[in-house]
Amino acid sequence: MNSDLIHQFTNAPIHQLLGLYIHIPFCSAICNYCNFNRGLFDADLKARYVEALVNEITRAGAAGQAGQARSDVGDGLQTVPAAADTIYFGGGTPSLLEPEEIARIIGACTSAFNVAANREVTMEANPESVTEARLEAYRRAGVNRLSFGVQSFRNDELRRLSRLHSADRARAAFGEARAAGFDNVSLDLMMWLPEQRVSEWLESVDAAIALAPDHLSLYMLEVYPNAPLKEDMARARWSQAPDEDAAAMYVEAMERLEAAGLDQYEISNVAKPGRRSRHNLKYWIDGDWLGFGCGAHSTRDGVRWKNISSTPDYLDRIAAGGSPAMDVRRLTPDERLGDALFTGLRLVDGIDSNAIQSRYGVDVWRRFGADLEPFIEAGCLRRDGTRLSLTRQGMLLAHEVMTVFV
Ligand code: SF4
Repeated sequence: MNSDLIHQFTNAPIHQLLGLYIHIPFCSAICNYCNFNRGLFDADLKARYVEALVNEITRAGAAGQAGQARSDVGDGLQTVPAAADTIYFGGGTPSLLEPEEIARIIGACTSAFNVAANREVTMEANPESVTEARLEAYRRAGVNRLSFGVQSFRNDELRRLSRLHSADRARAAFGEARAAGFDNVSLDLMMWLPEQRVSEWLESVDAAIALAPDHLSLYMLEVYPNAPLKEDMARARWSQAPDEDAAAMYVEAMERLEAAGLDQYEISNVAKPGRRSRHNLKYWIDGDWLGFGCGAHSTRDGVRWKNISSTPDYLDRIAAGGSPAMDVRRLTPDERLGDALFTGLRLVDGIDSNAIQSRYGVDVWRRFGADLEPFIEAGCLRRDGTRLSLTRQGMLLAHEVMTVFV
C-alpha cells in the first residue's frame, strides 16, 4: 500500500529536477550534542548497509520506469527514468565509507535515474577522517563538493562538544581538499556554544574566512533535553551566552562574511557567487527529493514519506524485498501551501506571491495579509512588489513569523 503510493508518484510531472539524498548513519564516536540518526561505525554493518542502499536505489529507479511505461502507453511517449541533478551524502559521517563504496552508490543513482551531466555531488566529511589521497579518491569516485563539519576553530570549544578533531586538523583537511582538486568546499560552524563569548565565536568566523571556502553554513547550537551535553554543562557549570549575545553573534558573523564576498542566501547559509548548495535549495524552493537509507525523508509531488530509522530494521526490510518507507501520506493542499511559504521564507529572496498564486491558486496577501502586517510594521518582514522576505532582524525571529503559515 505504502510503496504503491510512492511508486505512483516517483514519476509524477516534474516541476524541477529531483535531488537524491543518501543517508550514511555511521560515526567514529557520538558527539555529546548530536540529535541525528546515527550509530557507531561497524565494518560489517557498513558493508551490508551499502548493499542495501544500492538495492533500494535500484528498485526505486526500476519502479519509477515501470510506472512511467504504464502511464505512457496511451500517449506513445518514450519511457524515461526520473531526472535528478543533485546527489547528497549526509549523515552520520559519509567519509567513513570507502571511495569505492561511494562510487558504487553514485553508480546506482546514475543507473536508476537520469542524472544530469552537470550534477552536484556533495559528501559531508569530518576533518579527522580524511587525507589528501582519500579525498582525491572521492573526487575520482564522482564527488565534486565537500561539506566539512568543522563547528569551531577553537580547541576548547571542540573539546566541550566532544568532537574528535582539532582546529589545526580542520585547517589541514581544508587544504587537503583543495590539493585534491575540490573547487567547491563548504564548512559548517556552530555558534552559541557553551561558554562561548561573542568575540570567541567571531574568531572562528574569521578563521573560516581566512581559508576562503566557497560556502558556509552557520547553525545555532540547540541543547536537546536528553543530550549528554546537557549533563556535561550542568556538571561543569558551563552556560550559553544571553539571548542578545546570540543575536549579536549571528548579525556580526553575517556582516563579516558578506564583507568577505560570501553572500547570505538563506537564514543559515552563505556562498560565493555560483556556489549556493543546489541540493539544499530544493528543500527551500518547494522542490522534490528522494531520500535513501535509514531515516531518510522524501517528498515527491505532494506525497511525503520517511524511511524506518533503525539501521538493522532498514537492512531487514530491504533484505526481505520490502519497502523501508513508513508514514507515507499525501499532504493536504493547505499543508503544501504552508510548507512552500514556511521554507521559502528561509531564503533571503523570500517568496514570490505570483509564483504561489500560479502553483497553489492562493493570494498570499488576501489569505495571510492581516497576520503578516504586524511583522512588516516591526521591521521583521519586507514587502517588495510581489516578493515577501525576512529582514536580517526578522531572521532572528523567523520561527514566530513562520507560524503565520502553519
Ligand atoms: S559526527 Fe555528526 S552525526 Fe556523528 S555524532 Fe557527531 S554530530 Fe552526530
